[in-house]
Amino acid sequence: MTAFLSIRDLSIRFGGLQALDRFSMDVERGAIHALIGPNGAGKSTVFNCISGFCSRFDGEILFDGAPLEARPHRLVHAGLARTFQHVDLLRQLTVLENVLVGMTSRVRRYCAFTPGFGRAAAERDAIAQADEVLERTGLARYRNLLAGELDFGHQKLVDLARAVAARPRLLLLDEPAAGLRNREISEVVELLGDLARGQGMTIVLVEHVMQLVMSVADRITVLSFGQKIAEGEPHEVRSNPSVIEAYLGREHHA
Ligand code: ADP
Ligand code: MG
Repeated sequence: MTAFLSIRDLSIRFGGLQALDRFSMDVERGAIHALIGPNGAGKSTVFNCISGFCSRFDGEILFDGAPLEARPHRLVHAGLARTFQHVDLLRQLTVLENVLVGMTSRVRRYCAFTPGFGRAAAERDAIAQADEVLERTGLARYRNLLAGELDFGHQKLVDLARAVAARPRLLLLDEPAAGLRNREISEVVELLGDLARGQGMTIVLVEHVMQLVMSVADRITVLSFGQKIAEGEPHEVRSNPSVIEAYLGREHHA
């Protein structure tokens, strides 16, 4: 079976720094695939290359069998949505409005292609769907607050809700559990499982919270200094000596 997302020999330099060095990774359709590694390993850079935020890289990225030419403002159109390690919300808009922003291109498509489906109906429909996503991410009671008023963890949840509401085929999540409490992490675990298992969404998950990674990931790829050092199922990766070494080694230096 060909991979849904295939990253082949991806390399990128920033000045003297080789941030990614012939990095390859195959993500199966409908899988939750975690990408882990110490700080500075290159995880967010992988996301930036996939989603068009870094354009000058060597190597190839295939999405559903075709070269991916995602541009940041055309992500949803390409069937992709991502979240950011450092959240990037519209702080002066409400939580609901931020989620609706992720859906605008879908609303426009409804209006264009569904006869008799006017703008008002499309908006009502979008709001109903946004509310459903807010419910599932535990954000319903923050619906009408300004996004900028929430703490970091809840802003990360809004970013997640925005990405999920776009109903991408491929969802890229950069540290969604940062700043969340245990109960909220469990809710995220449940949501991701449901998106992948229930709706067939493919998810690539960058995450430091191992409780989350180990409980949802089908497969884990480990990056260190821009290179892949391990890959496998959670139980294989957890006991891999080079993985343990990569994490402990870094802490030692720090
Ligand atoms: P991770 O997400 O695994 O913590 P990153 O992908 O953010 O790591 O960064 C990998 C390395 O590349 C780091 O050393 C970081 O400082 C560097 N880096 C990332 N993006 C840029 C950039 N746009 N310009 C220069 N250096 C960058
Ligand atoms: Mg990062």
